[in-house]
Amino acid sequence: MGLGEQISPPDPPKRANGSTTASIKSYAPATGELLGEAKVYSPVEVQAAVERTRIAQEAWGLLPVEERAERVLRFRDAIMDRAEEVVDLLARETGKPRHEALSHEVFALADLITYYCKNAASILAPREVPLHLLKHRRSVLHYVPRGVVGIISPWNFPLVIPMGDTVAALITGSGVVIKPSEVTPLIALKAKEIWDSTGLPEDLLQVVTGFGETGKALIDAGVQKIVFTGGVATGKRVAAACGEKLIPCVMELGGKAPLIVCEDADLERASRAIVFGGFANSGQVCIGVERVFAHESVYEGVVSRVTELSKKLRQGDSMAELVDVGAIIFPKQIEVAEKHIADAVAHGAKVEAGGQRKEGPGQFFEPTVLSGCSTDMTVMREEIFGPIVPIMKVSSDEQAIELSNDSHLGLNAYVFTTDRDKGRRIAERIEAGSVVVNDVLINYACPETPFGGVKDSGFGRVHGDDALRDMAEVRHINFDRIKPPSKDPLWYPYSHKTYQWSLRGLRALFSGRGLLQRIGELL
Ligand code: NAD
Repeated sequence: MGLGEQISPPDPPKRANGSTTASIKSYAPATGELLGEAKVYSPVEVQAAVERTRIAQEAWGLLPVEERAERVLRFRDAIMDRAEEVVDLLARETGKPRHEALSHEVFALADLITYYCKNAASILAPREVPLHLLKHRRSVLHYVPRGVVGIISPWNFPLVIPMGDTVAALITGSGVVIKPSEVTPLIALKAKEIWDSTGLPEDLLQVVTGFGETGKALIDAGVQKIVFTGGVATGKRVAAACGEKLIPCVMELGGKAPLIVCEDADLERASRAIVFGGFANSGQVCIGVERVFAHESVYEGVVSRVTELSKKLRQGDSMAELVDVGAIIFPKQIEVAEKHIADAVAHGAKVEAGGQRKEGPGQFFEPTVLSGCSTDMTVMREEIFGPIVPIMKVSSDEQAIELSNDSHLGLNAYVFTTDRDKGRRIAERIEAGSVVVNDVLINYACPETPFGGVKDSGFGRVHGDDALRDMAEVRHINFDRIKPPSKDPLWYPYSHKTYQWSLRGLRALFSGRGLLQRIGELL
């Protein structure tokens, strides 16, 4: 396990019957206050929840897409009515500023639900696929419900991540069982409470709180798809468990987003983007800025402006005061940040801002800027998931691209340049699921586009039209265009004559510029 690998609390002890002895306690990271408790679902209870969801899904799956979308909009409206209550709980349970709870979670979720509900009927409408050879037949793709989708989610965006995936699954006609992070169970339970208040089928959406064991039990409970968001190490275990059961899965894992500052960049915008992209949610963002490659001609300017801006950030409990940066989710993450900084300093980096934990109550770590960084430092290679921005000098765009790609992760990447075409050319060469030019984090707010990673950042996508179709099961229906003959020449009995015809047909169609290509050129 690397320094940056996420460290969740250990699973609690088990009773002989497999149920757990402990409940989950949720503490406010900014104050240490106990916010509430949630039960730990045993495997037997998870199985029962999946069965109840399956029964509720049978009727739900029969509804036309338009009707499902209309009902899901009721859920959105109920969240809107209680938006401030949700924002406050998010801010308390995660320690993030209320501004971020509002815009990065509640707003983003409302927009995603709206986009999907507005467009689901056309995205999921049966699609005819023109057949290039078998002109006597037609193929139509239908998007049918899978059954029960299991969603296993992390603590850093405990509303928008699980509920965004939930809404996609519900619209496609599936039921959903969510296993939220053990660190933030209350917000998932709040979403469930809001769902139940809308008069929508209660069992269709269920939340099974618990630790990793509960997540494991969900995979074993007979679900038809898993959408997992979390760390790489857990993701590998989850993907293996899904593979064992041949359950399709989406893996949304860690990131190590590079941000390239080209020679011609707007330095003020680039510096502000680094500070916002690096310290939003205290750096606990899978697409947060995790390493900066600044061209040597602008490096000094970037370091000094980023340092200046970082020192001005207000940090604290957003429930008590106006702050820019909130708390760190649990103490272990602070130790991870300290180890990265110590390693970086030992390898020659300079701490330009921050670098220290703040004394309690609550868990806080100062927004930290490191200059003079190099790729032999853990802070430049492993996911940090904390408020640290390491900056490295590069001599060319070419070197920046090469170093950006020299990573086992590939979720997001950023390029800053005033030459839009150059920005796009660089973006095309970066190995990542999304590359954003002259902005940060913004792609998560584009519900029309796919979101996900390459390499160890995972596979499969959420958001966008294809991900909605993937949430459903595709059923290919192939049927005759004209009345077929009673005796099909391609069926039994085989004869030497039919073999010769097939051979002639094969050559006519596929040799050189065969018949098929010539027909294609004529049409
Ligand atoms: P984590 O991997 O520790 O936990 C994620 C979830 O998996 C939790 O609900 C946990 O209880 C559950 N889990 C643990 N062991 C399990 C098992 N064996 N079987 C089934 N479920 C199990 O991750 P975390 O610390 O909650 O979240 C932080 C990580 O998530 C970071 O690495 C971050 O980059 C990543 N993340 C990725 C995205 C993305 O979209 N790619 C978004 C947010 C966070």
